[in-house]
Amino acid sequence: MRFATLGLFHEANTFSPFKADKRLFEDGGVFRGDEIIAEYDGSATPIGGYLEECRRRGAELVPLLQANVTPVGAITEDAFESLVGEMLEQLRDRGPWDGVLLNIHGAAVAEHIPDADGEIAARVRQIVGPDVPVGAVLDMHANVSEKLVEALTITLVYQTNPHVDAREKAVACTKLVLATAEGTIKPEQALVQLPLVVNIARQDTSEPPMSELVEKAQQLENGLLSVSVVEGFPYADVPQMGMSCIAISDGDAQQAEAAAQELADEVWRRRGELQARGTTVDEALDIAEREQGPVVLLDVGDNIGGGAPGDSTVILEAAIARGGRSLVQTLWDAESVRQCGEAGVGATVTLEVGTRNVPVTGVVKALSDGRFEEPKPTHGGYRFFDMGPAAVIETDAGHTLVLSTKAILNSSLQQLLSVGVDPSSFQIVVAKGVNSPRAAYGPIAKRMIVVDTDGVTAMGLERFTYQHRRKPMFPFETGQ
Ligand SMILES: [Zn+2]
Repeated sequence: MRFATLGLFHEANTFSPFKADKRLFEDGGVFRGDEIIAEYDGSATPIGGYLEECRRRGAELVPLLQANVTPVGAITEDAFESLVGEMLEQLRDRGPWDGVLLNIHGAAVAEHIPDADGEIAARVRQIVGPDVPVGAVLDMHANVSEKLVEALTITLVYQTNPHVDAREKAVACTKLVLATAEGTIKPEQALVQLPLVVNIARQDTSEPPMSELVEKAQQLENGLLSVSVVEGFPYADVPQMGMSCIAISDGDAQQAEAAAQELADEVWRRRGELQARGTTVDEALDIAEREQGPVVLLDVGDNIGGGAPGDSTVILEAAIARGGRSLVQTLWDAESVRQCGEAGVGATVTLEVGTRNVPVTGVVKALSDGRFEEPKPTHGGYRFFDMGPAAVIETDAGHTLVLSTKAILNSSLQQLLSVGVDPSSFQIVVAKGVNSPRAAYGPIAKRMIVVDTDGVTAMGLERFTYQHRRKPMFPFETGQ
């Protein structure tokens, strides 16, 4: 058996002013051929799982091209067509294949193609023809379209958020694609799209209602090949935005339909519980100041994993105004990193940090190339990280800022530990995310608080103007 793996991995926040252009893809990582093996082999990512299971089964997995970008706005037409064009040319030229294992997110949007994942899968299908199995493991934040599921033979989805089962799902996907290629199963897929969004603060799969919906999906899996509940990604103004359910049976389309529908009915029944309101910045700081630390404040509006830039100082400013000390956070601010680098370790610098140019004075404690490695599987299973040149400053106000040249998720404690900052020694840790920091920061946090801050990933979806989503949808339109 000889399989191809390729993909473009992007979660698009269409409210972000930044487009995913070629430069941002280069920052995020474009890997070709064996570079893919070097980057992912042994990791807990989907490609790590594809490689592991193919090796175990003696199947050859040929790595073609993998392009990634940290969540940001829609992909430019130029970046999409050149990257997808290159990977599909390889797929065409180096075939025939017994199967294809795609590594796509499921919530990609291109400027000229609102359903970018559906388009990639459809183009792959066109090349390999109707009989070659094509499998994909989608992120739980996928906005799944009919077009995508129609083009794929096997659609699996992470069932954890934070995402710690990517490799496990990829192993399962590889098994199903292999069995299809061998002719031992005939997958039939069913998709039910729900006119419903789940609030970012209700997506943790270790707590109800999501824990119970995932459990329900697992129960329904009895006798089927797979059943998934998909959370979707609300910050994308596209028709396929929303929750969905997918079921796959062996040769029985009706059975798949019935399972997907039963799960969707249960999700719909619990739609009220999937909504949330957050804690204000002042309420959160009140709690953080009186409780034993570290208290991790999850900065919802500046959620890097959701497409925000990671440069907001809303919580920092409130802490400065209140005179609260012992706070640590990362901040995307290339210009301040440059100034710290020029001043050198031990120098006192005065900077204007973040998007709102907050004046701070402090001592440069460390400088770094910003590369670090996470030995344990955290959110998404990544192993190698690169935040670009970075600087640590300790301000007069008692705050420690880890300034980076690139915005990357706060999904590994090594981001701070690698530059000599121990987050567990602080009263307050600000994390730029809602779910992605939990696997890393949960173990050191005495408490985690979701803070309702402004930004392109704010909790309250009523702050955004949608033009292309379906209508009616819950909770936007009432009376459902
Ligand atoms: Zn996700």
